[in-house]
Amino acid sequence: MSSKDLHSVRLDKGKCVGCTACLKRCPTEAIRIRKGRATIIDEMCIDCGECIRVCQQHAKIAVTDPLSSINRFKYKIALPAPTLYGQFKKLNDISSISRGLMRMGFSDVFDVARGADIASRAIMEKLKSPSCPHPLISSACPAVLRLIQVRFPELIDNVVDVRSPMEIAATMARREFCEKHGVKPEEVGCFFITPCASKATAIRNPIGHQKSAVDGAISIIEIYGLLSTQLRRDKPGGDDEADHKSCTALGIGWARSGGESLAIEEEEALAVDGIENVSRVLEEIENDRLPDLKYFEGLACEGGCVGGPIVFENVFIARNRIRKLVVDLPREKISDAVSVGDVRELGNDVFFDKPIQPVESLKLDQDFAEALKKMDRIEEIRKKLPGLDCGSCGSPTCQALAEDIVRGYAQELDCLFLLKQRVSEMAKQMVEISELTRE
Ligand code: SF4
Ligand code: SF4
Repeated sequence: MSSKDLHSVRLDKGKCVGCTACLKRCPTEAIRIRKGRATIIDEMCIDCGECIRVCQQHAKIAVTDPLSSINRFKYKIALPAPTLYGQFKKLNDISSISRGLMRMGFSDVFDVARGADIASRAIMEKLKSPSCPHPLISSACPAVLRLIQVRFPELIDNVVDVRSPMEIAATMARREFCEKHGVKPEEVGCFFITPCASKATAIRNPIGHQKSAVDGAISIIEIYGLLSTQLRRDKPGGDDEADHKSCTALGIGWARSGGESLAIEEEEALAVDGIENVSRVLEEIENDRLPDLKYFEGLACEGGCVGGPIVFENVFIARNRIRKLVVDLPREKISDAVSVGDVRELGNDVFFDKPIQPVESLKLDQDFAEALKKMDRIEEIRKKLPGLDCGSCGSPTCQALAEDIVRGYAQELDCLFLLKQRVSEMAKQMVEISELTRE
C-alpha cells in the first residue's frame, strides 16, 4: 500500500483554485500550492481534516466507505460514534438511532461508548502502575497519535497502550454477535459511523496494533439523510429492536473534549482540543514544563469528536443534545460500572500489540555530509527571503520555501518579493543600457 493510499484526506484537483486557505491552516505544513493547485505531502499529513474545514471549494475530501460496502458481509454491525447521537433534532432516545440503523440494513448495533467504558477502566489501571510514564497521553485520537509520530517522537513512550473505544467496541460486538447467533467471525462485518477521516485512516493503517477489528468507516454525513428519514418513522419496539446493553453516560461523554478525563477519574488530567492547541501542549510536555500532569487528553477537533470535519451538526448544538440525551443512562462511576475482570475478559484485544514508530519527516539527503551542505544552502536562501510567511509562493513559510528550493520542488523566483526585486534590478539595468547606447 502506498503512503497515499493510507490517507483519507485527499484533493479533488478539478475543484482546487489554489487560494492558499488550506496551506495556511495545515498544522504540519503538509500542503504546497504548485501550478495553481494544492498538493499534499503524504509523509507529513496527519489526516486532521483542517483543510477540509477551510476549503470553500470543497476540493479537500474525506475518503470513507460507502454504505453499500456493508453488503460485503453476511452480518453487518453498526458501531455508532457517540457523536452521532448529537446530530438529530427531536431524538426521543438513543435506541431510536439503533432502530433506524437496523432498518437501513444493519443486523445489529453496538455502542462505541461501551468500548469507551472498557478503555476508561483499562487506562485507570495503567495510571495506577508504578512504572507508568507521566504524563500518560491518550491514544484515542488518531490524528494526535500521528502528530506525535511526525513531530513529537520523543513522546511516543508516553502514549497509553490501550486501543481506541472504536477498536474495543468492534472486538466486543463481533464476539457477542457470534456467541449469540452461532455464526463465524469472518461472516460479521463491523462498521464505524465516523465523524472524522482520521478514524478511516486508523482502520486501514492502525497505530499500535497489527490489524483493525473494524471493517470500514462510513461518514456521519453519508448516512445522515437516510437515518433522518428512518427517525421520522420511528416506533419503539418491534422485531428490529437492537439488542442493547447499556453503556454509561461517561462512555458517551468521550464524544466531547474532557469526557475521557472525567471518565478515568484522574484529577491531574488536562483535556485540550484543536490541533494547534494540542501541538502547543505537546511542546510543553516535551520541554518538561508540566511536571505535575498525570494524563493528557488531546483531541484534534475543536470541542472533541463532536466537532469532527464530516459531521452534520454544529459542534455546540451537538454537544448540548448529547448532554440532554444521556440523562436516562446509568450515572455511576466507571470504577463501579466496569470491573478489572471485564477488561481482562477481552484479553490482549484491549491493548497495543506493536510499538508505535516515529514517522521520519522528509530527509534532505541520505548522505550525512550532503545533508549538512543542503542545510547550509537552506539557511543561505532563507536569509534572502523576507520572513513574511505570506504563503503566496505556494509554501507555507519562508523556511519551508527555502527547503523546497533545495529539494528541487520550488525556485527562488516563486517568492514574489525576490521576483519584484529581480524585476526592478532588470529595469534598472535596461535604463542604464539605454542611457549608454544614447551616449
Ligand atoms: S483551500 Fe486549498 S484545496 Fe481548497 S481551493 Fe484553496 S488551495 Fe485549493
Ligand atoms: S488533513 Fe491536516 S495534516 Fe493533512 S493536509 Fe489537511 S490540514 Fe494538513
